[in-house]
Parts: sequence; structure tokens; C-alpha cells
Amino acid sequence: MSRPPSCCRAPIPGVIDLVIERPEGLYCPAGDFHIDPWRPVPRAVITHAHADHARRGHGAYLAQADCVGVLRARLGDITVQPLAYGEAVDVGGVRVSLHPAGHVLGSAQVRLEHRGEVWVLSGDYFVSGAGDANPTCAPFEPVRCDVFVTESTFGLPIYRWRPQAEVLAEVNAWWAANAAAGRPSLLMAYSFGKAQRLLAGVDAAIGPIVVHGAVDSVNAAYRAAGVALPATTPIDAADLKRALVVAPPAVHGSAWARRLGAFSDAFASGWMQLRGARRRQGVDRGFVLSDHADWPGLQRAIGATGASRVIVTHGYEAVMVRWLQQQGLEAGSFRTEFGDEEPAASDPAPAPVAGA
Ligand SMILES: [Zn+2]
Ligand SMILES: [Zn+2]
Repeated sequence: MSRPPSCCRAPIPGVIDLVIERPEGLYCPAGDFHIDPWRPVPRAVITHAHADHARRGHGAYLAQADCVGVLRARLGDITVQPLAYGEAVDVGGVRVSLHPAGHVLGSAQVRLEHRGEVWVLSGDYFVSGAGDANPTCAPFEPVRCDVFVTESTFGLPIYRWRPQAEVLAEVNAWWAANAAAGRPSLLMAYSFGKAQRLLAGVDAAIGPIVVHGAVDSVNAAYRAAGVALPATTPIDAADLKRALVVAPPAVHGSAWARRLGAFSDAFASGWMQLRGARRRQGVDRGFVLSDHADWPGLQRAIGATGASRVIVTHGYEAVMVRWLQQQGLEAGSFRTEFGDEEPAASDPAPAPVAGA
């Protein structure tokens, strides 16, 4: 895919942006720290604990308090300073605070203020044109800023989410039909975030719920943060013929999945909106459920910041940048290594192609 120039404004001599691209990741020169860097750095501010944003090997981490449990579960014994939403700290002379992004537990937008200028880096966020909020975490909060660095994972007009209640009703109907036929329902979803959103939304009266170990360990962090999730049954103790089994995409075709016998399987992801995505995954059903903003959600979120300059990350940058420029905004993109939330999984995401 051809990319637009990586930065948008002709450099003004003597003026350095509050955030710039570096080989290690996005960098704040004024405060001497990185945000979600992909290579080891001394100081990292982390937006959320997905694998593409929170990596191993940094000297010190700063993250939202609810993010810390999942961070430690995934990265081990790291040095991390927890911050409540809205609480501000001074990092090298830059005022840093974290604000809800609505994406997963502890997900945050990073607000940076220095010499009267405010930048907000969104990380991944969920704002749906259908008006839903993710019930398993604090909802996205617009933060006024001069420059907004926005994700654009689903930044194409074809991506418009239906109300999540409709999608969950489809999941329940599929599970109930399988249970009536005496076959397990294997529902594959990212183990951090999507799995918990599904668990919080399904009808636990249909049958027992079994989760893969990767989901179970993240569930513990959600419960510790006060998020209500239905009770689950160990796989050996469950009546599998009536069970909903929630597992990461990596189990597809594995020995673990074969333990379930003859099952129906499904994949829950925003990518399921693309015709052919379900077929390529080789599953029976695809449910369109995303923890990222859809096209109208991106537009609404960007507008609510009041930013006059917007920098796009994550995907479909060219399409989003063109739309922003049509709105009269100064727009550009950052080249990042964000993208695969669970790199160990068989990746359901097709390579982004502008205009696809
Ligand atoms: Zn994410
Ligand atoms: Zn991301």
C-alpha cells in the first residue's frame, strides 16, 4: 500500500512537535519518553495491554491502574507506575494524564500538555455509530486538544457497526440451536477484551460456559477490577454438548479444539464484516463485533476533540487522511508497528488495502 508522507507539517525551524516518530516508536522529545514503543526504551507510557501496544523490555512503564493487572499477567514482573483516569503527573516537564478509551479494561488515551499545547494520543478506542458503549470498561471520553493522534483500524466507510445487542442475540441464537442439537459451540475471539465483552453479553441460562486458559487468566484481572462476568465451568466438568466454549483464535484446528468432538465454530471480530473473511477463517459463523471505532464513530470522536490537526495510525491512513483534509483539517499519518492484538493467534485481519 502506498503511504502518504509520514508527517504533515513542514518543519518550522526551532519548533519540535510534542510527539515525533522514532525507530523505537512514538516519542515525546520534551519529556524524553515514548508512547506504546515497539522496541525497548527507558520510559514508556502504555495506552493498553494488547500485545502490539504493550511490549516487553522497557525500563519503566506508566499505565492506567486497571491496565496493570493484565500488563503484569502478560509481561511478568515489570516496573509500572499506575495512574487513575484523569490524574496528572509530570514526566520530564510534560503534564501527562490518561483518559478512558472504551476499548478494553484499562485502555486509555494519553493527554500531553506542554507550553500551552495539548496533544492526545488515542491508542485503540471504541466509539460506535450505533451509540453503544463497551460494558466491560469505562466508556470513551472525548478530550479537547490541539493535535489528535487517532487510530484508524476500521477507517473505511464500509465499516458501520450494528447495535451490539443485535449481534449478541445472534450469538445466543446460534448457541441455543447448537445446544438443542447436542453439539458444543466454539466461539473464537481475542482472549483480552473481546472474550470478556462476549461473556458479559451472552445469555448464561442457555448452558454451561467454558473458557480457554488464556481467557481465564484475563477474566481474573477483569473480576479483580470489579467487572461482572458469568461463572465458568472447567472443561472436564462441563456438559460440552450444551456448552459455549470461548477461546482465542489460535485454537483453530488444534488438538485443544479436537477435545470438543463434533462442534460448531464461530469467529467474533470486526473483520467479519468483510465478505470472505469468514470463509478464509474456515469457520461456520462470523459475528461482526469490534472493540474499535467504526467509520462514523471515528468521525464523531475526531470531531469531539476540536483538534485542528489530526495524525492517523493503524490502517487505511490514506483514506482517513483524505477525508480529514476534505473537512479542512491539517492531517497526516505516523508509521507505526501497531496492528496484531494477539500475534500468537492465526490472524483474522486481512492486510489493509486502501479503498478495499
Ligand atoms: Zn488494542
Ligand atoms: Zn492497536
